[in-house]
Amino acid sequence: MQLHCFTVGLFSVNTYLIVDPATKQAAIVDTGESEELVQRLRAMDPPPDIRAILLTHAHVDHAGALTALQREWEVPTYLPRLEIPLFESLPEQGNWFGMPQLNRPCGRIDHLIDDGDEIELGELRLRFLSTPGHTPGQGCFYDDEDIIVGDTLFAGSVGRTDFPMSDPALAQKSLRRLLELPGHLRVHSGHGPVTTLARELERNPFLAFLRKERGLG
Ligand SMILES: [Zn+2]
Repeated sequence: MQLHCFTVGLFSVNTYLIVDPATKQAAIVDTGESEELVQRLRAMDPPPDIRAILLTHAHVDHAGALTALQREWEVPTYLPRLEIPLFESLPEQGNWFGMPQLNRPCGRIDHLIDDGDEIELGELRLRFLSTPGHTPGQGCFYDDEDIIVGDTLFAGSVGRTDFPMSDPALAQKSLRRLLELPGHLRVHSGHGPVTTLARELERNPFLAFLRKERGLG
């Protein structure tokens, strides 16, 4: 896939535009919480042929601008099924962080996705891996070269599990599954720089439990 990263909003969240090189059909992954992504996408020349909106998870920095995007692009929107409870909290999520100005409307969901599902985008096949823990249903979208992981894994870190609806034990299970994918996969996280699964398995301090399990020093 071709990937454009747009870092937007108060939380410097990485949102992505995935483009199928064959047909130029495109999908947005995550939204930010402000109008910024809409503006950045509208400034693209030629304009992207946006066919879908995908959400890795429903924290306000990743899903809060969904209605703003849907006003601009009336396209099918995909949410991990297990993420529904968190998604439904968007109108009061700002309160959790002491920032009621960040409460957002939910927007429209057209497709609920489950572990192992595939989404077609032109000739691209995006696979979905469910990696709950940071949130009840967060997940990753990937092909043979790239994986967009939301807040599951960062370069040198992992997603926090001290939020309402987080589950640290589930997060460990999810990291174990994620790191079973091929090491060459380029990891595009919800915050921070690009890395690879192999690099993180080698040196991420939060994956020491996996190195131990696998006898990797
Ligand atoms: Zn998050």
